[in-house]
Amino acid sequence: MIPAVTLNTGAKMPIVGLGTWQSEPGKVTEAVKVAISAGYRHIDGAYVYKNEKEVGAGIAAMIDQGVVKRDELFIVSKLWSTFHLPPLVKGVCLTTLSDLKLDYVDLYLMHLPCGAKPGDEILPLDEHGQLISDDSNFLDTWEAMEELVDAGLVKAIGVSNFNKDQIEAILNKPGLKYKPANNQIECHPFLTQEKLINYCHSKGISVTAYSPLGSPDRPWASSKDPSLLEEPKIKAIAKKHNKTPAQVLMRFHIQRNVVVIAKSVTPVRIKENFQLFDFELSEDDMKTILSLNKNWRGFPLPWATKHKDYPHNTEY
Ligand code: NDP
Repeated sequence: MIPAVTLNTGAKMPIVGLGTWQSEPGKVTEAVKVAISAGYRHIDGAYVYKNEKEVGAGIAAMIDQGVVKRDELFIVSKLWSTFHLPPLVKGVCLTTLSDLKLDYVDLYLMHLPCGAKPGDEILPLDEHGQLISDDSNFLDTWEAMEELVDAGLVKAIGVSNFNKDQIEAILNKPGLKYKPANNQIECHPFLTQEKLINYCHSKGISVTAYSPLGSPDRPWASSKDPSLLEEPKIKAIAKKHNKTPAQVLMRFHIQRNVVVIAKSVTPVRIKENFQLFDFELSEDDMKTILSLNKNWRGFPLPWATKHKDYPHNTEY
């Protein structure tokens, strides 16, 4: 059994998952198959990654071959910002389900708190390079997501890139039917997120850490940005445990009861990133890793800074 966190719905969410952002459609089917064969039971995807059909093909192949049953898998997808207006929510969720060839996803997240102008453009920007809002209120979007649970299309709902005040707004919403089950946030030793994680956990909301390796393939990476995989203190801890820096970076979350999703389309790395349960970081290792925090974001979302729901202008 893969260690799991228990959601406030009672469902178990495997603590390690495979990320699929930027996984090329031509490679991700095989990546999903390799992952499931290696023992992964949790796949993280999103409508906006434009590869859900190919992710679905990998899942279907593993089910058809009898490697795994649907109810042993935990599949995550996300509602993109241009579908925040309540009448749009169900349709795009059905598109995701049809692409994934599934009757339901286990967790459906609001990808960002910021709603954006509906249409064909994924990132509608104005002349200043700023996201064009749809003037939606994410509390209304949340209500539309609650209806997906009632329709049986999603087992649980949650948020992503939400700050404390935004989560609190949902928790305090009059008539709230379902609390968020999860907040998926950027988290790694350069952005340790202690306050937001403690807040979420205190409210019974699980946390998933995205970009645990620092997202070295993000298209806007600069050579001046810090590198987690090359960080000397991470390398030293890895050497001591006879593990790789990536494995240390992932194990760090597990020991905080935080779910972790790394992306890879490289079979040897996919397997490496799952070999996390045969070692333990000491208290000193954890302290050293936490001391690397510099509140550095790989995803500052510069195109959303003027949006009324931009999440990163508060302390946490
Ligand atoms: P990661 O931190 O997972 O880094 C992925 C990169 O690291 C890829 O270039 C991959 O290369 C490489 N890599 C993977 N494993 C290893 C290894 N063992 N050693 C060395 N290099 C390795 O970045 P992501 O930003 O992709 O984050 C993970 C997932 O989180 C995403 O795929 C997505 O599912 C989710 N996410 C969610 C966001 C949100 O807004 N909710 C935002 C960003 C990510 P290769 O594939 O070539 O092997």
